[in-house]
Amino acid sequence: MKRRLTLHFPRQAVHQPITYRLAVDFDIAAKILRAQVAPNQSGTMVVELSGDIDELDAAELWLESLGLSLDRAPGEIRIDPARCVDCGICASVCPSGALSSAQPDWRLSFDAKRCLVCEQCIPSCPLDAIALVLEPR
Ligand code: SF4
Ligand code: SF4
Repeated sequence: MKRRLTLHFPRQAVHQPITYRLAVDFDIAAKILRAQVAPNQSGTMVVELSGDIDELDAAELWLESLGLSLDRAPGEIRIDPARCVDCGICASVCPSGALSSAQPDWRLSFDAKRCLVCEQCIPSCPLDAIALVLEPR
């Protein structure tokens, strides 16, 4: 499972080897998407974490124990209704049930509250109807 987080570092935590500890202690791969962390200053980093869901939950608790604050969904998924043809492919890859289609009309339904922003649905859409928007409305 993938999870995208924005990490806010207090000054005392900027020297922590975060990505190394995530890999060794939690078996989590951390891909840094954006970083603004200067030595001896507070900073911000956007990361995509890949790993087991229980380990991801444990890693978040560990990060918070270091004094970091976490934004768990710095972006949101948008579906373009003008492109979507309700084929349902994206719903079949969604791990959280945020995307679904069901009888009687098989229209695609998106429940943003259930979305993990894992982005698995984006490449699944043959019509490029799904996008990640980084700044929430
Ligand atoms: S990003 Fe897409 S696949 Fe992932 S949980 Fe949200 S809607 Fe489902
Ligand atoms: S895969 Fe694309 S076209 Fe198909 S239901 Fe999902 S958003 Fe719509």
